[in-house]
Amino acid sequence: MNTTKPSLYDFRQKELTALVKPSFRAKQIYGWLYHQYAENFDEMKNIPKAMKEELAQKYCINPMKIVKKEESSDGTIKYLFELQDGKTVETVWLKMKDEKYDEDGALIQEARYTICVSTQVGCKVGCAFCLTAKGGFTRDLTAGEIVAQVVNLKRDNNHKHNRKINIVYMGMGEPLDNLENLTKAIEIFKEEEGLAISAKRQTVSTSGLSNKIDQLGKMDLGVHIAISLHAVDDALRSELIPMNKAHNINSIIEAVKRFPIDTRKRVMFEYLVIKNKNDDLGSAKKLVKLLSGIKAKVNLIFFNPYPGTPYERPSREDMVNFQEYLINHGLLSTIRDSKGIDISAACGQLKEKNQDEIKGNF
Ligand code: SAH
Ligand code: SF4
Repeated sequence: MNTTKPSLYDFRQKELTALVKPSFRAKQIYGWLYHQYAENFDEMKNIPKAMKEELAQKYCINPMKIVKKEESSDGTIKYLFELQDGKTVETVWLKMKDEKYDEDGALIQEARYTICVSTQVGCKVGCAFCLTAKGGFTRDLTAGEIVAQVVNLKRDNNHKHNRKINIVYMGMGEPLDNLENLTKAIEIFKEEEGLAISAKRQTVSTSGLSNKIDQLGKMDLGVHIAISLHAVDDALRSELIPMNKAHNINSIIEAVKRFPIDTRKRVMFEYLVIKNKNDDLGSAKKLVKLLSGIKAKVNLIFFNPYPGTPYERPSREDMVNFQEYLINHGLLSTIRDSKGIDISAACGQLKEKNQDEIKGNF
């Protein structure tokens, strides 16, 4: 891939219909993209050659290629993609539920998967604990590059287009910092004749840009949000997430209260637990108070250390005590399984590893 072209995954179906005439051709192409996961124009057998040649001059199909893949014993697969301009991003395939069989060995429930997608190359937010932040910000991903991550993972795992899948915007980058392309990707995923992934199955994780939470809420797309809270007082939160100075805890809580939420659902708050920083019961108590007016669920995440970080992973005992405090005080809480711990679990770590290996080769 030495020339950069927009991808056909950049288009909502009606945009493709405006581009390709007659409209049934656009529908056929959409099928090739999202049902057959076609990788090149030659595969599109029922599309006239001249049309394919014309399209191929202006557009590519797949805007990225897999350059590294790491599989964990728990079913997690971490992918490193190279984009057309040579930049790299990560996407993670997470096995959430195992398949179930009856006594005769017949399959009664298929396994459930979630895909964790990236929205930017690097990130501007610069969180002190995050490996992605270390490389600074390079660029936003296009909608097509966000969409193609999911298509590539489904193809690579032989996951049929109509099998249910959840998407979490929790990979590299701050999704709300790339709001236009993010919301376009959300809509493309929803397309009935595409992957038909409903907004209810899509969760946007944000470090808390309160004005953008409002903007996303006003669009009323039906997506869930997850807030990376990580701290209960502004001093610590500003140390961990520098832009907390502009979007403090209170402004985030207020924005969450305004966000349109399915009444049956809860807003997820992610709380990265760091040893001797925020793992004490005093913090747990403040957290209960802070979230008292919200139908919330807290996801406790073990800090995942990497070389050079001053922060440490908390003990399991402190983690469990923290969780018990929350639950005993009426706040629903889970401890995130350390999925793929043997393949460097937190976002940005595979990319970093690859760069080290590349450096090591020269
Ligand atoms: N920018 C968004 C989404 C991507 S970050 C956000 O911050 O919410 C996705 C998640 O990875 C965040 O919850 C973040 O806290 C977590 N994360 C980053 N570095 C981590 C580390 N070293 N260990 C564990 N989780 C980490
Ligand atoms: Fe960006 Fe999220 Fe990493 Fe913070 S945790 S630097 S917002 S990717």
